Amino acid sequence: MKNKLFWSQYNYLKKSDKHGYLIYNTETNNFAKLPEESFNQFQQIELNNELIETLNDDFKETLKKQRILVEDKKSYLYRRRMKYNFQAFDTSNLGLAVAPTTSCNFICPYCYEGEKKHVTMNEETELNLLNFIDSHKRTNTLNLTWYGGEPLMGFSSIQRILEGIKNINHIKLGLHNMPTNGYLLNKDVSLFFKEHPMDSIQITIDGAKEHHDTLRMLPGNLPTFDRIIQNIDTFMDYNSNTEVFIRMNLSHENINSYGDTYLKLMNYWKGRKLSIYPAFVKDFSESCKTNCLLVKRDEKLDFFIELKDKYDIDVNFNPYNQCTGLCGATLINYYVVGPEGEMYKCWNDLGVKDRIVGYLDIKEPTNYDLTAMYLAGPNLMDDPQCIDCKILPICTGGCLWVRHKNLYENKEYDYSCCTRKNNIERMFDIHYEQVLQRKIEKKI
Ligand code: SF4
Ligand code: SF4
Repeated sequence: MKNKLFWSQYNYLKKSDKHGYLIYNTETNNFAKLPEESFNQFQQIELNNELIETLNDDFKETLKKQRILVEDKKSYLYRRRMKYNFQAFDTSNLGLAVAPTTSCNFICPYCYEGEKKHVTMNEETELNLLNFIDSHKRTNTLNLTWYGGEPLMGFSSIQRILEGIKNINHIKLGLHNMPTNGYLLNKDVSLFFKEHPMDSIQITIDGAKEHHDTLRMLPGNLPTFDRIIQNIDTFMDYNSNTEVFIRMNLSHENINSYGDTYLKLMNYWKGRKLSIYPAFVKDFSESCKTNCLLVKRDEKLDFFIELKDKYDIDVNFNPYNQCTGLCGATLINYYVVGPEGEMYKCWNDLGVKDRIVGYLDIKEPTNYDLTAMYLAGPNLMDDPQCIDCKILPICTGGCLWVRHKNLYENKEYDYSCCTRKNNIERMFDIHYEQVLQRKIEKKI
């Protein structure tokens, strides 16, 4: 007896004014153009699953292959959970985000923490870190991110640690990267990284010079933009194989200048290994320092459409459908290491005492509950809203830290759902046109 078939919850039917009758499936990320008759038939099937039986067997088989019809409504969810668990509990790599200091040389109003005590790693902790890495005998790759504060404020520690890692024979450096404000990225630092190459470096600016210099300042309100640009030049001269990512922070105040700044900088650095991308300012503080400036989900879509239409910037509207929802915090072999040798699972927890999950010199978690919460606690696959969501296959589910804050601390942060959640209909034509350009349309 043949198994019963179901209309996949990940199907979208749309009569597009421009492109006719379409079906899109978020699990396969495939579009297909339909004859009107099939479109009408599918609309009926969506309302009444029993009508699948009116389709002939060959057609059903084709639709099954395209995952438009499925034998088990939950099969996608089970496969995603399996993939998630495999990766979360994979111990072949060690991942560390090391903060050699919590100090920062800038006084940006949205994150400046005033007189808060800042700590820099001492040589004993550096040694503990090297021993900790060495103790992972069954691991052969270390993925390393420098974090902070501003990581280059702890450059001497970075130098000593990287030299030390070279002497750990069973571990080779895998992915190596650093987010930095770029101000201290001078010639000496660039030369050092030429000898200890990074795969990528991420340098943050706050849009055009005029805006940037009012926010990303040195004490005394001194500007930083020109120096950062000069440093990026120098860095790229010595590190041509390192991918440079310019992260441009955006709020309502500077969102309109993104297109021009993007084109200006891309033109200035033409031919270099460089990408520029927008980062929308988020506010997790209770004090609402910038909340009124935050960019809402619908506005983000308007922003991306304008980039494409007005500035001819190649925005990729094709979603990624291999999302797992994993991040460092959800991986068993991943830690954020603070300058006193304390360890966390999540970047957002750095410096918060009750979020410490262990110490470098104590090689087991000291806070099992929190570790378990990140590794096995509720994620999007336990959330009824996500389980029922049509765009689950193309959504990461957002940040787990945010999800847990909302679940356990009655917060209402709105950063989990992706831009497509309320806008899939609006994005249909744009997405479809890009698919056509890239010639990956499927025919049914
Ligand atoms: S939980 Fe969120 S903030 Fe923490 S590491 Fe993951 S994505 Fe980043
Ligand atoms: S986070 Fe939002 S958009 Fe993503 S799967 Fe869950 S409900 Fe859907």
